Amino acid sequence: MPSLSRLVVELKQSGIREIMNVALGMPDVVRLEVGEPLFTTPQHIVEAAYLAARQGYTRYTANAGIPSLRSLIARRVSEDYGVRATPDNVIVTVGAIGALSGAVRAVVDPGDEVLIPDPGWPNYEMIVRCAGAVPRRYPLLAERDYLPDPSVIDGLVGDRTRALIVNSPSNPLGTVFPEGLVRELVELACRRDIFLISDEVYEKIVFEGRHHSASTFDPDGRVIAVFSVSKTYAMTGWRIGYAVAAEPVVRQMAKLQEAYVSCAPSVSQKAAEAALSGPQDCVEEMRRTYQENLSVALSVLEQNGMRYLKPAGAFYVWIHVGCEDSGSFAKQLLTTHKVAVAPGTTFGPSGKEYVRISLAARAEDIREGLNRLASAMRL
Ligand code: PLP
Repeated sequence: MPSLSRLVVELKQSGIREIMNVALGMPDVVRLEVGEPLFTTPQHIVEAAYLAARQGYTRYTANAGIPSLRSLIARRVSEDYGVRATPDNVIVTVGAIGALSGAVRAVVDPGDEVLIPDPGWPNYEMIVRCAGAVPRRYPLLAERDYLPDPSVIDGLVGDRTRALIVNSPSNPLGTVFPEGLVRELVELACRRDIFLISDEVYEKIVFEGRHHSASTFDPDGRVIAVFSVSKTYAMTGWRIGYAVAAEPVVRQMAKLQEAYVSCAPSVSQKAAEAALSGPQDCVEEMRRTYQENLSVALSVLEQNGMRYLKPAGAFYVWIHVGCEDSGSFAKQLLTTHKVAVAPGTTFGPSGKEYVRISLAARAEDIREGLNRLASAMRL
């Protein structure tokens, strides 16, 4: 067989999948590793998709998405964040991951650099590498409450830096950026003339404070804000995300979308339309469940004297397990105590002493899984 792409062969798969694949083949495992809502999609959304399929929404759509959905999204972000968005500022994508990869590809040339968080969602590194660009990590440190430090990031911007990726509410840390910091990050992007790609998929899952969108403060079309229906409406499998950006950026992203996927699935776009325009109490119900699960997690962590970062948003807890390599730790934990957690190493070098658990699980699983983790740490 001829050789395969070196870039692709050398791409590292996320450590979360590695754990998940083993966990799936084992009986009686408490699964806290995946970032997936425990809910199924609300019925009114499923019904709307069914109706749409019956009505013939079974064809390709425009590359940037169904016009009525783009309008709805423009209206929604305008109302939520005071952004002056029109449908031309919106592209509907295959999940937020489609928006993030489109955004990165739209702004880099091979060899350019993109700044990504450490720790940060593993896919950022994969996305940047797939675009032929180079990921460069900026630290999220305890002494800064695990928030990005604009002056440190400023020092990492070089001649080839094209974009800064930020994520609030954060996976895996659960931090929610205060408004002042969001403004500072936009100002930094302006001063250094780079794009700010702001991953805001957990916008509606906030326990303390409020989510502030970077798009609110965009003075000149350099912010690409990324959202999704995946987490907000428990719709991970429908694969619908969207980006809000300047019209020239959206135009290039739509062209890329034509090359890679044509468009997001038509039935799923109609489902997303139903989600965004329908009753919103399901969003609050799910958020409240994650918050209740957080209380359960915190009480077990406290009882066992464990160190952790209390999340203000998203649905994860970042737990200090004090090992040398959380990759091996997580594998061993799965074998010996039958609990699956995401190894911190997969989020970046700073995660080597940490694991991440998901609050999007059943409360009894969270309690049992954390008790098993605590007993593993006592050994
Ligand atoms: N961004 C972050 C921070 C995530 O945690 C995830 C999913 O886990 C995504 C983006 C991807 O979302 P989607 O399912 O919409 O592609």
